[in-house]
Amino acid sequence: MDRRDFIKTSAIVGAGTGLLSCTDGLGRFVSTPKPYRIDGSKRMSLSFFPYEIQLAHTFTVSSYSRKTTPDVQVEIAYDGFVGYGEASMPPYLGHTVESVCAFLSKVSLEQFADPFCVEDILSYVDSLSDGDAPAKAAIDIALHDLIGKLLGQPLFRLWGYNPAKAPATSFTIGIDTADVVREKTLECAGKYRVLKLKVGLDNDEEMVNAIRDVTDLPLVVDANQGWKDKQKALDEIFWLSSKGVRMVEQPMPYSQIDDIAWITERSPIPVFADEGIQRLCDLPSIKGVYSGINIKLMKCTGLAEARKMIDWARAENMKVMLGCMTETSCATTAAAHLSPAADFADLDGNLLILNDRFSGMTVVDGMIRLPDRPGLGLKKCQE
Ligand code: MG
Repeated sequence: MDRRDFIKTSAIVGAGTGLLSCTDGLGRFVSTPKPYRIDGSKRMSLSFFPYEIQLAHTFTVSSYSRKTTPDVQVEIAYDGFVGYGEASMPPYLGHTVESVCAFLSKVSLEQFADPFCVEDILSYVDSLSDGDAPAKAAIDIALHDLIGKLLGQPLFRLWGYNPAKAPATSFTIGIDTADVVREKTLECAGKYRVLKLKVGLDNDEEMVNAIRDVTDLPLVVDANQGWKDKQKALDEIFWLSSKGVRMVEQPMPYSQIDDIAWITERSPIPVFADEGIQRLCDLPSIKGVYSGINIKLMKCTGLAEARKMIDWARAENMKVMLGCMTETSCATTAAAHLSPAADFADLDGNLLILNDRFSGMTVVDGMIRLPDRPGLGLKKCQE
């Protein structure tokens, strides 16, 4: 076989295996992945189905308790690949399985010939209604998973994030009696590097003391708007800080914006907005009110907008936290791909459920580990 025949043969073999041949710097033949080419005749198709999330324990925050979370699972199929997405709907945001399915029924992805036109596709999806953030997030997540799979690369790599910089995730302990809080702390203290405690009723100090009976791990607290008086809230924040609490989330009702700004100005630890913000367009109104923002995909319509919110927060010298709902590893892993860009991560939603459909991000010695597989990198569990 002469050199010309060899090159021809290599190209034919390469095409058959999805690989191309080229030469390296020393003139040797090497194989590289075949670049994905858009075939304009192919179209995306969207499917979805309700999926009730079963929680391992009854979950209590300052305003409600629950044992399940309504959820809708989404798939976008294209050219033999499937991108997975998810809408998780804790009751306080007012979305239901019915509202998510009604929104998804209106979405026509068949009109787009190129799944990589993410901005065009998501702008169209966003234009279909004013709300419906979880349903929009489900499409955004599935679309990102799909394009990562088409390109054969994990999302963190497409965005240029270093997976070694993925932070520790906190593990959340709900409001409970001191004995239960102590018991839950003992169960999880060896596995996590940061614990998050829900506060905001009348037993905050008892719960914190119960945790401090058994561990010195750093704590973060989330009042879920539970404190009503700014001076009392500030006094409690100083006390919490003396107990090793590193930051506080949503100390007061978000409508009390002047009171929250007053607390943030005086607080020894960062004050984060959660209920106080949903999307990118909300951020200018909280400038100077909080020290950081808690970004959740189900509030902000997904990964594309979350990345813009991270950029905004950095430009304003604010901190970034990534949160989640109780959800499967699909949505939690999607948020985890952003986590190398965050200061805090609270991505334990998949660890609190009994019926996960996927495996994806893992927590190793308390640190988030991202799967090095294309797209979200999910593997389906046996169903
Ligand atoms: Mg919160």
